[in-house]
Amino acid sequence: VARTSIQSINPYQNEVLREFPAMSDEEADRAVDQAQRAFQEWRWLPAAERAQAVCRAADLMQQRRDGLARTVTLEMGKLIEESYGEVDLVVDILRYYGEQGPELLADEPITVDEGTAVVTNRPLGVLLGVMPWNYPLYQVARFAAPNLVAGNTILLKHASNCPQSALALEQLFRDAGAPDGVYTNLFVRGSGIGRIIDNPLVQGVSLTGSDRAGASAAERAGRRIDKTVLELGGSDPFIVLDGRDFDRTIDAAVVGRLGNMGQSCVSAKRMIVVSDVYNEFVGRLRQRFEALTPGDPMDPATTLGPLSSEEAAENLVSQIHDTVAQGATLVTGGRRIDRPGAFVEPTILTDVRRGMRAYHEELFGPAAVVYQVANDHEAASLANDNPYGLGGVVMCRDLDRAHRVAERLDTGMVWVNHPTSSRPELPFGGIKCSGYGRELSDLGIKEFVNRKLIRTF
Ligand code: NAP
Repeated sequence: VARTSIQSINPYQNEVLREFPAMSDEEADRAVDQAQRAFQEWRWLPAAERAQAVCRAADLMQQRRDGLARTVTLEMGKLIEESYGEVDLVVDILRYYGEQGPELLADEPITVDEGTAVVTNRPLGVLLGVMPWNYPLYQVARFAAPNLVAGNTILLKHASNCPQSALALEQLFRDAGAPDGVYTNLFVRGSGIGRIIDNPLVQGVSLTGSDRAGASAAERAGRRIDKTVLELGGSDPFIVLDGRDFDRTIDAAVVGRLGNMGQSCVSAKRMIVVSDVYNEFVGRLRQRFEALTPGDPMDPATTLGPLSSEEAAENLVSQIHDTVAQGATLVTGGRRIDRPGAFVEPTILTDVRRGMRAYHEELFGPAAVVYQVANDHEAASLANDNPYGLGGVVMCRDLDRAHRVAERLDTGMVWVNHPTSSRPELPFGGIKCSGYGRELSDLGIKEFVNRKLIRTF
């Protein structure tokens, strides 16, 4: 199989920063063998010892905060303040599983009539993680930290456009004392993943990314009866039920849609607003979107950064263009910004209806669709009329009313009166085309363990 290189490209200037050779099939096979050998030692260490390595990784991540944040911003264009925020969240995740992981994995006794019964949580073996570029450190940490404490070993295939972040993570775990083979970076393209999944030593696959990639990896893993966890796309509703505390609602909508330049699985992609506040909502959102200034994401004063790549920018503009051609109203934005780099104007679309691209597809960038609805019932029905089911937000001062709508949403997560977010102790994941399984929390740490019953008489 021919090698192709993996490139780190700065989307702010569209310049190639570094280039790395992709692994050959033989090199990838050797990495799997090494991970299996490492598993045979790692699995028998006390969980507390494995957890210590994860705690050391947290300390090192904190020490390397500046360098890691800059690497993320250089490679995928995230505003530097947001990159610092990502590093800080990852430190929290590593520390949480380093400190709480062994307890979360403790034996679980079950009361029985005679003798004893206990469920133990034992590692499965070598796991393959396939991760996206949008949060290059966080996506890896929420998979790696719990699983390393659980005793699994990890092969990490990162997105092809963030190889420097991928190497920095491998170095971090190595420097934290993880023995060779416990955490290995694989420079393999998405198309080369099937061969690795086919390897009988690989016991599970966790993929975060598009539904297309998720379906392909899960199909392949299914042939070998390997466990999978899929964290896929989303088109989260952001439901506004009343006009109280409107400043807070607008702030949440702006952060929810434009955080990470709109490239988050749980971005507020579909704003669903009841009639009496709809016009004010669209007007104020427009003011906020138009006030942003594009610039170097490394400059803390910049409020509008590039998307992760030229391809991402072009794809978003074509989705917007087609939706407008299908009859939607373009309130603001909709074009590339006339400067080098992967910039797209912050965009608002209204009058979007079934059959139009933006109604059904995920918009992975700074483009909001705002829908007008008559009442709470319509809001929930529209929210659920979508292939995805990841997260959602309900903004309403009357908490009973907010919870009634939250209850009706067919999603894995709902936030009330707050933009979506992630914390180490809270489960993260979705249903429908957004995938299955959960990451983080006690649910996440038990996805790739053998919940083994020992019944004694
Ligand atoms: P993507 O193209 O699916 O890439 C994600 C990862 O999958 C990359 O490492 C990619 O490798 C790999 N990949 C691509 N095709 C594959 C295949 N056929 N088999 C196995 N692996 C394959 O995703 P993206 O478009 O860059 O990322 C954005 C998507 O991720 C959005 O849909 C977003 O909502 C979703 N996402 C979901 C979550 C969540 O928690 N639910 C979080 C973040 C993002 P290459 O780079 O080498 O192609």
